[in-house]
Amino acid sequence: MTSRPVPVFDGHNDTLLKLEVAARAGRPISFFDRDNKCHINLPKAREGGLAGGLFAMFIPSRIEQDITVSYDPNDPRHFAEVQQPAALGVTMAMAAKAMRIEREANGAVAICRTGEDIRAAMARGAFSMVLHIEGAEAIDKDFNALEVLHAAGLRSLGIVWSRTNLFGHGVPLACPSSPDTGPGLTDAGKALVKACNELRIMVDLSHLTEKGFWDVAGLTDRPLVASHSNAHAVTPSARNLTDRQLDAIAESRGLAGLNFHLAFVDPQGRIRLDMPIEQMVRHVDHLLSRLGEDGVALGSDFDGCIVPQAISDATGLPALIEGFRKAGYGEELIEKIAWRNWVSVLERTWS
Ligand code: ZN
Repeated sequence: MTSRPVPVFDGHNDTLLKLEVAARAGRPISFFDRDNKCHINLPKAREGGLAGGLFAMFIPSRIEQDITVSYDPNDPRHFAEVQQPAALGVTMAMAAKAMRIEREANGAVAICRTGEDIRAAMARGAFSMVLHIEGAEAIDKDFNALEVLHAAGLRSLGIVWSRTNLFGHGVPLACPSSPDTGPGLTDAGKALVKACNELRIMVDLSHLTEKGFWDVAGLTDRPLVASHSNAHAVTPSARNLTDRQLDAIAESRGLAGLNFHLAFVDPQGRIRLDMPIEQMVRHVDHLLSRLGEDGVALGSDFDGCIVPQAISDATGLPALIEGFRKAGYGEELIEKIAWRNWVSVLERTWS
């Protein structure tokens, strides 16, 4: 491709976790090193047109494990509850990592706290990071950590990962399965939604049970956002969204971000590395049919999942954009999916 790639602002990655796991294993890697084996690092982002995204701070039940290499969705040890002090410690480590990256980058990376921050970073060619918590284990019941992390730049929070915590219940990574797998939010979880609304922290619906989804929908005064979830009608995984859920997201003028994880894209939930990009486009087609052109975006799950070989890492984003062109999407729609819809929904959530 000769022209500059279409910029992408992506709704979910676990790159900070990969950096943290490597550091803990005594083999630290750098965000600035193209060969660091992460899906996202600064050189790969530049090559693929990745302009930035939401950077998750996720605490695996087994922090020593690289979730993209040795992860078994049927092993209950991966879904064990995590205690708050330990989770807060690891969250601090990941937030500090993002801040050190920003400082070391000398202007080439910006931790963004407003829509204007993201637009300005994109305009000058800097890489944007928005701090996100995936699973609120680090947050105490009095929300002291929430206050302080918000002041440090936290702008988005998923109440649960696919396990239980003080605030609610997550869906298993099961397929085929309805997302209606158990209880929703606890009273503490309902209070957390209110606290996030007050602080203008986006509440992310991905990983919640269906009951939890409806609990948030009934409480929040902001657009409904599932940062990295696909269409249940195409892949009947518990992690994907039913048409009823998609319709509620559309009604709130929210969005869903396409997750690249093979098991959430393949029609039978299989891990097939040679999965064609057209199968990802099938999800986007369905999401567009329910959410409209302003409600669909990307939520790659880079560095937290197994992506199709046709994409491989951030350098493969132009291949996905090309897949959209082949499917007949116009350039305006492609820009909306690639970045404009994310920036718009974040602005409406944070204002
Ligand atoms: Zn996730």
